Amino acid sequence: MKIYFKDIVVKTTKMYELIDITRDVERIVSESKIVNGICVIHAPHATAAIVINEHENGLMSDILEFIRELVPRDGKWKHNIIDDNASAHIISAIIGSTRIIPVRDGRLVRGTWQNIFLLEADGPRHARRIVIEVFGE
Ligand code: ZN
Repeated sequence: MKIYFKDIVVKTTKMYELIDITRDVERIVSESKIVNGICVIHAPHATAAIVINEHENGLMSDILEFIRELVPRDGKWKHNIIDDNASAHIISAIIGSTRIIPVRDGRLVRGTWQNIFLLEADGPRHARRIVIEVFGE
């Protein structure tokens, strides 16, 4: 089995934001020369997450609006006493910071409306790292 890994670094410009990283992940899968296996997409951050869904501006805005309302920034969170970003931690915890996508015939197996995003929940940040690892043969 072969393992290939590479990081992506993105800059975020808003408190809540979806950054499409699909092309970067596809490029890394292609560079890996792995034909069949899996691709792990992991954000090593406690206040961001990885989301797979459609790249349509209205929907992207709906998702951000939904999480903003689901976990209000100004809730009575204990963590806010020390860091003022409890809502971002909770969003990261419930959505998750890792996704796995199958790789078949050298390509990610994803639906037409399945793009890969970094979800920023505590921006702006000048460097959010996303770790991509491709396993297979
Ligand atoms: Zn914190």
